[in-house]
Amino acid sequence: MKITLLGTGSPIPDAARAGAATLVQSDGATMLVDCGRGVVMRLTGAGVIPPMLNAVLLTHLHSDHITDLNDVITTHWVMCPGPTTLRIFGPPGTRAVVDATLAALAHDVQYRIAHHDDLNTPPQLDVTEVVPGDVFAVGTATIRVAATDHRPVEPSVAFRVDDGGRSAVLGGDGIPCAGLDELCAGADVYVQTVLREDLVRLVPSARFQDILDYHSTVEDAAKTAARAGVRTLVLTHYIPALQPGQEDDWRKLASEHFTGDIVLGDDLTRVDI
Ligand SMILES: [Zn+2]
Ligand SMILES: [Zn+2]
Repeated sequence: MKITLLGTGSPIPDAARAGAATLVQSDGATMLVDCGRGVVMRLTGAGVIPPMLNAVLLTHLHSDHITDLNDVITTHWVMCPGPTTLRIFGPPGTRAVVDATLAALAHDVQYRIAHHDDLNTPPQLDVTEVVPGDVFAVGTATIRVAATDHRPVEPSVAFRVDDGGRSAVLGGDGIPCAGLDELCAGADVYVQTVLREDLVRLVPSARFQDILDYHSTVEDAAKTAARAGVRTLVLTHYIPALQPGQEDDWRKLASEHFTGDIVLGDDLTRVDI
């Protein structure tokens, strides 16, 4: 199984870091988890074009996790040689977001169908709204869904992918909670979006300080990883942006609570398990 951090940025624009998105390539499935800013560019950088996706999984409907869903839908549609269904899984509300996205794309869809003789159908999407406890299959992978705590963002979920004897948890945004602990138990890899509380507290902005109460800190993620006995902790969605040369500072904060492997880095950082 390969896990690639497609976007390690946050909502704050960053020339070097795309928005939240992670690619999971298991034995028999290729899945995109979240669709933040620049996702299709980074997907291509990882050697995957949208027609190769077996499913899109959305952890929650914050804009930084769905802003480029429209690009995934459009490029999947126009690059597939024939009508091909794109499966999208996400928490309740996902169907409304997808319908609104299609409404925004309606003119474009009409132009392209009018222009191309071999393009006669609009994007074929199969949306499934998932709730904690759901289990579904994508190719040979089994996906389990658990609740996360990212209130007031509700509902929000995490996904665990099991395939070929390997497992990865995509924790999305949120603070530690029982559902996440349970999902992570014994996983090979746990990917968590994180912030550095010490650095965020230095920023004199009430709106910025607000984010402290609904994101895992680096230490929180490390403690979750330790409790669950995961093998590798992967940190992403750095708030504030991870600066060159700071990697060891971030890693040190995690290693005080977790003795397994700790991975962090730039966009396209990849973990093979
Ligand atoms: Zn969020
Ligand atoms: Zn986010």
